[in-house]
Amino acid sequence: MISVEGNTLEATLEITLESMVHREKVARGWVEHPTSTLLHHEKACCDEARLWFLTLGRSMEGWSAGHFELKAPTWLSKKFEWGPSSWPMSWCELIKHEQIDCGVFAVLAREIFTAQGFKAHGGQVLVNYNKICTDHWKDFWIDRMPNAEECKSFNWIGENVVYHEVCIVEMPDQTAKVYDATFNQWYESEGRKGFGGLLAVRSESPRLLRWGNHTLSYGEWIEL
Ligand SMILES: [Zn+2]
Repeated sequence: MISVEGNTLEATLEITLESMVHREKVARGWVEHPTSTLLHHEKACCDEARLWFLTLGRSMEGWSAGHFELKAPTWLSKKFEWGPSSWPMSWCELIKHEQIDCGVFAVLAREIFTAQGFKAHGGQVLVNYNKICTDHWKDFWIDRMPNAEECKSFNWIGENVVYHEVCIVEMPDQTAKVYDATFNQWYESEGRKGFGGLLAVRSESPRLLRWGNHTLSYGEWIEL
C-alpha cells in the first residue's frame, strides 16, 4: 500500500507541462492565439487617442521620450481595472474604457517601454492555478462581460492553467525582462512552482533573448 502511494506521488510530481496542457479542453486556443494588438484607423481619431495615452504615461512617470531609463508603468493597473475587453479594439475605443483585459494591458506596456527607448515585444505565459481560483475567474469574467457574444471567441481560463499576456522588454545586452502590466510585476526567470507559478512563456521578439537560463526564440513556447 505504501509503495502504491509512493508511486502515485512520484507520478504526480512527474506531470509535465505537456500533459497538464493536454488535459485542458481550451488549450488549443491558447497555443494558436496571437498576442493582442490595438487597431489604428490611420485617422486623427486613433492618432489623438494614442498621443493622449503617451502624454498621460509621460506625466505619470516623468520620463521624456527615448531617454533610456526602464521604468515599469505601475500606474496602468491603477488607472485601468482588469476585466473583459471587446475585440477587436482600436486606440480610439480604448480611451472610452476603464476596464481592459491582459491583452490590452500588455499592448499599453509595450507602448510605454518603446517610448522610453526600449525594444518591447508581445509575450504570452501559461500560469498554474487551482480549480477554486479558475472557477472564481469564470464567474467573474461572465459577470463583467460587456457583450457575451464578443467575449465568447477566446477562452483564457482552463481548469488548472490559464493563458495570460505580458510584455517582453529587450535589454541592450540581449537579455529579456518580462513584465506583467495587469498585476504590475516583473516575472522571475526561474518559474515559481505551484499556485501562481509560470509554466511556459512565448516571446514575439524577432531576436533570441536570454532570460535567466532560458533562451526565448520567436513564437516558441518555452517550458520553465
Ligand atoms: Zn480610431
